[in-house]
Amino acid sequence: MRAEGIETVRRILCVFPRYTSSFGTFEYAYPLTDGVQAFMPPQGLLLIAAYLPANWPVRFIDENIRAATTEDFEWAEAVFVSGMHIQRQQMNDICRRAHAFDLAVAIGGPSVSACPDYYPSFDYLHVGELGDATDDLIARLARDPSRPAQQVVLQTADRLEMTRFPIPAYELADIKRYFLGSIQYSSGCPYQCEFCDIPGLYGRNPRLKSPQQITAELDKLLECGVTGSVYFVDDNFIGNRKAAVDLLPHLIEWQKKTGYVMRLACEATLNIAKRPEILEKMREAFFVTIFCGIETPDPDALKAMQKDHNMMVPILEGVRTINSYGMEVVSGIIMGLDTDKPETGEALLAFVDESRIPLLTINLLQALPKTPLWDRLERENRLIEDDSRDSNVDFLLPYDQVVDSWKKCMEVAFEPEKLYARYQHQVDFTYANRIKVPVTPEQKTWANIKRGLIMLRNIFWKIGVLGDYRKVFWKFALPRLKHGDIEGLISVAMIAHHLIMFARLASVGQHNASNYSIRLREVSVPAE
Ligand code: SF4
Repeated sequence: MRAEGIETVRRILCVFPRYTSSFGTFEYAYPLTDGVQAFMPPQGLLLIAAYLPANWPVRFIDENIRAATTEDFEWAEAVFVSGMHIQRQQMNDICRRAHAFDLAVAIGGPSVSACPDYYPSFDYLHVGELGDATDDLIARLARDPSRPAQQVVLQTADRLEMTRFPIPAYELADIKRYFLGSIQYSSGCPYQCEFCDIPGLYGRNPRLKSPQQITAELDKLLECGVTGSVYFVDDNFIGNRKAAVDLLPHLIEWQKKTGYVMRLACEATLNIAKRPEILEKMREAFFVTIFCGIETPDPDALKAMQKDHNMMVPILEGVRTINSYGMEVVSGIIMGLDTDKPETGEALLAFVDESRIPLLTINLLQALPKTPLWDRLERENRLIEDDSRDSNVDFLLPYDQVVDSWKKCMEVAFEPEKLYARYQHQVDFTYANRIKVPVTPEQKTWANIKRGLIMLRNIFWKIGVLGDYRKVFWKFALPRLKHGDIEGLISVAMIAHHLIMFARLASVGQHNASNYSIRLREVSVPAE
């Protein structure tokens, strides 16, 4: 649904801030693609854009693709911004630029909802999810779009049911410039891991869209030109297991109908390994990747962070089970936990070897507001506000020791030989278990073939000829070519290249040890 009953017309400029380099956004892979410039279409801002009154013209700009221009600001009557903590400085910068045009600026999304005080200059703070605060904001702008005399905080008390969410306005985004497509089925998570802000922000009782909404969204993504991978951004795909079971047959049907042009990915807790009935259906729906927050292989640490549900099956067994349904596990790992010991880095590298997981996001612990971790560390006087550090946590081990251990893990885990060996394992023991999707006319379009050829050319030239790890690459690539597995080759080569490049710089201190740290993010850089 849209906001209704508003006669006045307002022109709204929605601006999504630029990310800075991060392990999880794959930017070292972009030069190998056919023009990708950004990670995923931002769900929140495109959702708000779709919710605005039908007669309000909306422009959407993702500054990862291009910066908002003078002409954009002159066109607009008000500006909407949304983003995560890591984009805080960029969001404040967009506000400053919009104010130069005397425009009212509203901010919504996860960062302002958790930390309104990060955004003192904005005119409107939209705290919480889509709901009565959104209607209030729209009504106020309809009455008067000029800047209010002082900041107005609008907090959602009554959230809009997700079944009434409109389809995000994907048509406003330059969808082909994104590395992945994105979609959201549910919000919230029933668990309460100590470090996580999801239950605090979105609740413990997952709210849901309907399966029909999801297939309609997939139709729209397809219409807008998404092929390749689509990521369910839900915090936990099995947060409501029954809902996952209800959705999967619809996804299977949709994939059959549209010719399997999309490979699906999601985030889920590792105890999904105990649910063969769900895994089997995910396999049929062509889910190829699951991000699991494994966090640590140390059972004591899992207990301490209230993530015991990761131990419902032995971790390695859980990973193997998921692999046996054709899905690669991507793992989140945290270092700097109170339970860490001097030998934690070594143990983690042994786990990487044993699990054969190629892609692990290894981060230093960061305390986020609205989490039990934050509250505990505050009580213990162990929160440190110092932008020169990679974490705001006063670790029990010496800070330098933790950072050095992280650098060592990054360096060793993503050595080209080791990484490609893990990918070879995936080819043999995971990808081999995927359903054999029929080659359909939808996949063989000229646009898809051209895209594949461009990516292959880039990969062969930039990695196979110029790359300093080309020998390792060809050892993997030649058998793939022999098997005609071009798609598999492209996706592994692109991701591996990002991981190798990022880890090399990380191991010499040129990348942050935490996705949340702002140490290297001081300058707000609009897209050129
Ligand atoms: S299972 Fe995942 S989403 Fe849920 S509380 Fe834990 S870390 Fe957060």
